Amino acid sequence: MNAENFQAGERLVNAAYVRQGSQGRRAHELRVRALLEQGKCPEAGWDESTIELFLHELAIMDSNNFLGNCGVGEREGRVASELVARRHYRLIHGIGRSGDISAVQPKAAGSSLLNKLTNSVVLDIIKLAGVKTTSSCFVVPMATGMSLTLCFLTLRHQRPKARYIIWPRIDQKSCFKSMITAGFEPVVIENVLEGDELRTDLQAVEAKILDLGADNILCVHSTTSCFAPRVPDRLEELAEICMKYDIPHIVNNAYGVQSSKCMHLIQQGARRGRIDAFVQSLDKNFMVPVGGAIIAGFSDSFIQEISKMYPGRASASPSLDALITLLSLGTKGYHQLLRERKEMFSYLSNEVKKLAESYNERLLDTPHNPISLAMSLKELDEQNPEAVTQLGSMLFTRQVSGARVVSLGILQTVSGYTFKGFMAHTDKYQCSYLNAASAIGMKKEDVDMFLKRLDKCLKALRKGKDQKDSPMLNIDIDSDMEKCNIEGDIQH
Ligand SMILES: *Cc1c(COP(=O)(O)O)cnc(C)c1O
Repeated sequence: MNAENFQAGERLVNAAYVRQGSQGRRAHELRVRALLEQGKCPEAGWDESTIELFLHELAIMDSNNFLGNCGVGEREGRVASELVARRHYRLIHGIGRSGDISAVQPKAAGSSLLNKLTNSVVLDIIKLAGVKTTSSCFVVPMATGMSLTLCFLTLRHQRPKARYIIWPRIDQKSCFKSMITAGFEPVVIENVLEGDELRTDLQAVEAKILDLGADNILCVHSTTSCFAPRVPDRLEELAEICMKYDIPHIVNNAYGVQSSKCMHLIQQGARRGRIDAFVQSLDKNFMVPVGGAIIAGFSDSFIQEISKMYPGRASASPSLDALITLLSLGTKGYHQLLRERKEMFSYLSNEVKKLAESYNERLLDTPHNPISLAMSLKELDEQNPEAVTQLGSMLFTRQVSGARVVSLGILQTVSGYTFKGFMAHTDKYQCSYLNAASAIGMKKEDVDMFLKRLDKCLKALRKGKDQKDSPMLNIDIDSDMEKCNIEGDIQH
């Protein structure tokens, strides 16, 4: 309501009460004004009523919600289902125009404002999370792999001769496919073993550049967040090599925003050498549904060039989810989540270490990996080759998700390229192992329940060995599993 409406209300309700009501509204509006003026994530999170008020105001700025609108075009933001309209707060026009995902849509001032604000708030968070010199970024309604593809396709125009992408090996299919889909040939650089850690082979990278010729290389494609025992790439040195040979550098920072170490590596890389863009997942870092990524960088013109490569309009949903989430958390809430994640990582490490030792196994020593850890499975390797895979399926049926059992010697072909020892980031690692990660939002109860179930599985496998029986037959069903009768459900 505006001032005129409040005044009209005074005919019906005591003017003093109406005044108080209008002051109540003003408090919400002051928050909205600060957001519009500064474009920054508020420190304290907003409550739902402010967020909804704001979203409704944005929506009625779009032509599909004009009371007198008569649409005679082919895209008028009509929605058949009222449920769908509500699911999107009646923001139906999406973002961008046919030529540019960041362009303003004249029919939809509210959606355009939403898009600009989201990018601005997200930039603020990226800086606060550690990459202080980031100059611009934008949200794309595609997951990380496709967003990397968009970056590679943008570079193609700058380097028409280039066919190759130098890629320190990380065994994750979507980052490999992001290069194939863009039409380039990945040049896999095997990692080197240092202690238990798998690290970037800088000499091999440089040798490959000299061998192929800098002009034939589209870019170096490095990775921060990854499964242990691989650790984040040596970004600083890679960025220096890229600067030396004048080769672009794209960083896959899939779930790295949640780790100050990963963000610090990117900042240092950009300070000391060359990083053109870094790409991160929205769902993995901000606890929103899958569907969006952030493309960020240090040159406004390059980031703008990428956003102009996007053909056509795009869904506003990932932007809307990100904005709602950041407004409701505030910087305080997000920092709190990051702190808790870090504490949970220490807790998880300590507890896995204890459990590992009680089974004559080891927590692998991977101090450079801030999110993922690994526990050796040497005993199972010695027992029989199936025991390791069996542990994987045992954990799965016990509803442990995200734990990843890696057995030795898996051959996997991805887009015609065969990887030896797939999943382990190297042809032959020293032993099989189990991964677990402490990602944003993880709770102590998750860790405790995981360890309890893992302990039971390992015990059962050991007992199975002693009795030379199928260990599957000797499993005591977890007491909390019995309660929800999962095993029963699966068998029926
Ligand atoms: C999640 C992830 C990706 C990308 O996966 P999307 O499904 O495209 O988001 C790439 N690399 C790594 C290391 C990842 O964790």
